[in-house]
Amino acid sequence: MTPFAINNFVQGRYLLGVGGLLINGIFAFNTWSITTRNHYSDTLTLLGLVPIVIFFLNLAFIKQGIVGAFWCYPAVISCYFMLPERRAWIANTTLLVITLPVAWTMIEHALAIRLIMTLLMVSIFSAIFVRVINEQQQNLKRQAITDPLTGALNRTSLQETLEQAIAQNQRLGIAMTLASLDIDHFKSINDIYGHAVGDQVLCEISQLLTERLRQVDQVFRIGGEEFLLLLYGTNAQNGYRVAEELCHLIASAQLLPQQSVTVSIGMATLQAPEDWITWMQRSDHHLYRAKSAGRNQVV
Ligand code: GH3
Ligand code: MG
Ligand code: MG
Repeated sequence: MTPFAINNFVQGRYLLGVGGLLINGIFAFNTWSITTRNHYSDTLTLLGLVPIVIFFLNLAFIKQGIVGAFWCYPAVISCYFMLPERRAWIANTTLLVITLPVAWTMIEHALAIRLIMTLLMVSIFSAIFVRVINEQQQNLKRQAITDPLTGALNRTSLQETLEQAIAQNQRLGIAMTLASLDIDHFKSINDIYGHAVGDQVLCEISQLLTERLRQVDQVFRIGGEEFLLLLYGTNAQNGYRVAEELCHLIASAQLLPQQSVTVSIGMATLQAPEDWITWMQRSDHHLYRAKSAGRNQVV
């Protein structure tokens, strides 16, 4: 945009030059906004950039003919990167609807048709392209925080989640309880039935946990056969009840033909102002005690 704006000033088309600089200004603001605040200013883009682009595109037609219109292609594409999809469609449809009659009256019809058709194509392909990129990004984000075997969360988002829970506890007083869960004698399950059956047991236990817990709770697989559960809005008493229930549920689930699979659970209800590591260490310590006390129990 900058060379276009300078060229317009040099050639004496001051209004167009100012328009170019204004559009540049909004791009610059959005660049600053995405780097410092991590989002674009939707309202400024839709209500500022789009009308200015439409106004100056039409002015450029009138002053320069078809030559004045070439810069609108990158402007159309940029809408899809700087606006949510629906708003980008609104912006580009408005641009096309207003530009069509102006192009029709100001330039040769054959050229006007080509301009509109190519703008439409650029608009549609940009929309598809941005949608595919967004979907891929979301998939990657999901994959990055998920354990591929069990579908539980992996360690990637553990610290962030626990720190958020601590912040909510401190600000809103919401009780938070952690449960460290470890499968008992899992090595012997692997040894007797094979690694594939071991994997299947892991998946089924993960599924049982997710099904029994609520949407607001979180299930992490933090080691081989070790899970960490964050029980949201749950105090020690209720947490203990839930954990006991989980123990029974798993022990009676018939995961193996010959024997039942049991788990040991150590719990810790958040005690402000401890940090996430101390909190986790306490539930781990209680897990260790549950193991020493004979397994298949909650401490
Ligand atoms: P304890 O009751 O004291 O917890 O004994 P344990 O046998 O469960 O614990 P230990 O730490 O001795 O063994 C854990 C086993 O888990 C060893 C390892 O081979 C197995 N394991 C770790 N990750 C996986 C996995 O992804 N799949 C399978 N099938 N086994 C795994
Ligand atoms: Mg174990
Ligand atoms: Mg273990």
